[in-house]
Amino acid sequence: MSQNSKSVQFEKMSFQAEVKQLLHLMIHSLYSNKEIFLRELVSNASDACDKLRFESLDNPELLPKDSELSIIVSYDKDKHTITVSDNGIGMSREEVINNLGTIAKSGTKDFFKNLSGDKQKDAQLIGQFGVGFYSSFIIADKVKVTTLKAGLSKEFSVSWESDGLGEFVVSDSDRDTHGTDVELHLKDDAFDLLNGWKLREILQKYSDHISLPIYMSKEEWDDEKKVQIQTNTLEVVNKSNALWARPKSDITENEYKEFYKALFHDFEDPLFWTHNKIEGRSEYTQLFFIPKHAPLDIWDRDNNSHGIKLYIQRVFIMDDSEQLLPRYLRFVRGIIDTADLALNVSREILQESKDIFAIKEASIKRILGLLDDAAKNKAEDYKIFWNEFGQILKEGIGEDFSNKEKIAKLLRFASTYGEDDNQYTSLAEYVSRMNSKQEGIYYITADSLISAKNSPHLEIFRKNNIEVLLLPDRIDEWMISHLRDFDGKPLISIAKEGFDVSKIGGDADIKDPAEISESSKSIIKKIESLLKDRVKSVKVSSRLVDSPACVLVEKNELSPHMVRILKNAGQNPPDSKLILEINPDHDFFKKLSDLDEANFEEWSNLLLDQAILASGGNLNDPAAFVRCLNSILLKT
Ligand code: ADP
Ligand code: MG
Repeated sequence: MSQNSKSVQFEKMSFQAEVKQLLHLMIHSLYSNKEIFLRELVSNASDACDKLRFESLDNPELLPKDSELSIIVSYDKDKHTITVSDNGIGMSREEVINNLGTIAKSGTKDFFKNLSGDKQKDAQLIGQFGVGFYSSFIIADKVKVTTLKAGLSKEFSVSWESDGLGEFVVSDSDRDTHGTDVELHLKDDAFDLLNGWKLREILQKYSDHISLPIYMSKEEWDDEKKVQIQTNTLEVVNKSNALWARPKSDITENEYKEFYKALFHDFEDPLFWTHNKIEGRSEYTQLFFIPKHAPLDIWDRDNNSHGIKLYIQRVFIMDDSEQLLPRYLRFVRGIIDTADLALNVSREILQESKDIFAIKEASIKRILGLLDDAAKNKAEDYKIFWNEFGQILKEGIGEDFSNKEKIAKLLRFASTYGEDDNQYTSLAEYVSRMNSKQEGIYYITADSLISAKNSPHLEIFRKNNIEVLLLPDRIDEWMISHLRDFDGKPLISIAKEGFDVSKIGGDADIKDPAEISESSKSIIKKIESLLKDRVKSVKVSSRLVDSPACVLVEKNELSPHMVRILKNAGQNPPDSKLILEINPDHDFFKKLSDLDEANFEEWSNLLLDQAILASGGNLNDPAAFVRCLNSILLKT
């Protein structure tokens, strides 16, 4: 049905299945969170006003003629109702059905998956996932929405009504001003909310940051009836001041925290924040927060529209954060308020604005500076940050060339340094511990920390006390390929060819592979000829201590571990050419010289297979490996 055709009178419809599930959850497990409905409805009313303001940038006639954009909260003790009204954008019939009958957001599945059972936290999730409207049914047994979309005439006004059990009814209405009323008919056990003082308290707690005025009726004490009664005068009940516009010195730590929690629907304090007013050629205010926990949809790289809110002179304009911050900073929450753009700026101009671009660049620097400062001065909190968002920040190494060095300083890694292996070291700390002969920063990538720690490649490094960074994240190999060096020191993969083991530094006592006996050399040659279809070459290793063999790839090839990640991701990378290195001092090798031809071939294949496995690769033919292993075992 199009927005402009006259609608049918009356339609009864069913909620989408997920909505039913959600409503059930709300009603049965969140009844102890009676207050959040108001936060959600006020937030929707405020969004609706923001949307109207944004639409009016292109269509100024849409704005209310004689009144400001505002929200009114009222209640009726006799009818047991609370109503939240706004004069924002309103909804067409089609929008009412879509917005209030379904859950469009892909995050909803995650929402269900992430319910913790902790009612406090679950209630917060409701806000984060934009399923806020349905929280009405925590306290109401009937909800009625009456709305008219801005720009449409009275006969297109619609009402929506539901008891939240499974169906809703949409019918014609006769509202003649744009905006929306949400009327809740309260359940018996929620009557305590029918109280002006109580509602004001909730509004102050959750909605003080709303920059539009929220009105309620003034109340007076009636001496005869001995009760508070509502008068016909409205008064503003929220501060409606933009916290970020106040001077820093006037704002308490607690105010920042409460502001953050309310505006970004978080139940925890932020870890760090930075608040700056930039004056001069360009004029704007930045207020950025680093949350303590990642929102559940943070891995969804497309869903990043709620991080940064752009205001022009305190009027909300948009929260499309990709224009305001790069994706690798999508965990940042905050506000940018500029005086450089005109309030009636069009969307197109916003998209191409050089001012916005300059603000974005400056914001990146500001946030990286904030993190750098935290890393230096708030080490414990920085660790929390790193565990939560480190993997996302790593994306910046490949995506933001101009800030690569700054980001590199913020990276933290597990490493073989110290007794139990250090879980958390910076590249600068690594460099400060490097020995004078060491050519670069050594690292190994792997599937997991355990497999990195136990890699045969590490043996010679451990033996000689030379530190190696252990990189178990999927993104690490990609990131390192962009990082390449730090502080003038190259990053060197110890699982690849192309560096000289005898130059790893330290007090390294490393055998020269050339020194092995002629008979050993001929065994190596023989293995190489038997395995020639599977490996590029076979060599004597000087890097192994306890393991019989390991595999390497050439410097510019993908490691077996990376090949596996790509294959799992459905790609088809070429298999890298493997180099098999053998430990001539290992009993396995010594045993080879006693074997007859047939056994020799089986043992050679087994040697290669186990080297691939230990180096984090996948066997192309696991069944052949098992056959070979069994055959050898049965002969012993
Ligand atoms: P969210 O606000 O995160 O989108 P909600 O469940 O709170 O999720 O609201 C669902 C949708 O219903 C909103 O996105 C909006 O399109 C619509 N809506 C709710 N309240 C209003 C309102 N007061 N005015 C206009 N649209 C509204
Ligand atoms: Mg909402």
